[in-house]
Amino acid sequence: MLNDSYGRVATDLRVSLTDKCNLRCTYCMPPEGLDWLPNAKLLTADEIVRLVTIGVERLGITEVRYTGGEPLLRRELPDIVARTTRLSPRPQVSLTTNGIGLARLAPALAQAGLDRVNVSLDTLERETFKRLAHRDRLADVLDGLAAAEDAGLRPVKVNAVLMRGINDHEAPALLRYCLERGYELRFIEQMPLDAQHGWTRDNMITADEILAMLSPVFELTPDDREERGSAPAERFLVDGGPARVGVIGSVTRPFCGACDRVRLTADGQVRNCLFAREESDLKTAMRAGASDDELAARWIAAVASKRPGHGIDDPAFLQPSRPMSAIGG
Ligand code: SAM
Repeated sequence: MLNDSYGRVATDLRVSLTDKCNLRCTYCMPPEGLDWLPNAKLLTADEIVRLVTIGVERLGITEVRYTGGEPLLRRELPDIVARTTRLSPRPQVSLTTNGIGLARLAPALAQAGLDRVNVSLDTLERETFKRLAHRDRLADVLDGLAAAEDAGLRPVKVNAVLMRGINDHEAPALLRYCLERGYELRFIEQMPLDAQHGWTRDNMITADEILAMLSPVFELTPDDREERGSAPAERFLVDGGPARVGVIGSVTRPFCGACDRVRLTADGQVRNCLFAREESDLKTAMRAGASDDELAARWIAAVASKRPGHGIDDPAFLQPSRPMSAIGG
């Protein structure tokens, strides 16, 4: 099992399939993009499936989420999903995507056994989308969301990051849009993970602010029907339920004490936290001929050293050198 020294157990594996993305969201990367990893450094589909198999069959991983960069850019995605869902015990398999291309791929992904998707949608305004993501692709994202719902990848979850002066006026409209379509919306506080290192605490829209923007329009009741457990979102029933909205206060309401995640980057590094400053290199070991036992032992050691919290509030906090797109969000 993947235990750390604070009593937490990692069971939720986030796997980045690529660091490349077809959007340039300002909270993530600069408009010109980044120096992408060369293909030779990316894990192959077989290498990904081998590591995921070790995680699931030997180390107690019960949930696998494919992310990136943009995971739909990996052509082998349906195959990787199908091979993951055939593992025993069968893990939950989900995808975090910007939705571009999902309109075409959702049926194949559902057929491959994908359980759920999280689609990122920060705005419903075409001009704001262009300003925020530097691409004119809002219609593709909305089509992708609808296709995911039609393909049965439910509940379709929507992730939204609000940025001051850009899309922070849209909180109620985003929630209304999702309620009307049966999607479950979660607002995420902006974290210091942008490649440009432009994050400031003053510019971040906090969980308190988000709730204050929604409350005049919707009746929000803390949803205590379910234990929050390790779920990062605080959930609220909207107008008496059953619809819900989530707020993920990663910065102002951290949930590190209940964290059950571990990450694998597209170039085969285990990270025990989004904000970790160290990684453990499984790819080099694997390519040098390491056995499954040896890879599992490295992975166990990497998680054992997980720190108690992300430390954003610590004066000595240092932003990780890799941006979100390269870690896998
Ligand atoms: N490309 C996919 C997508 O857009 O969902 C997957 C990768 S993206 C890095 C995963 C999630 O991280 C998205 O919902 C995105 O909004 C979020 N994200 C990226 N940078 C962030 C930041 N600095 N703070 C908070 N969330 C961020």
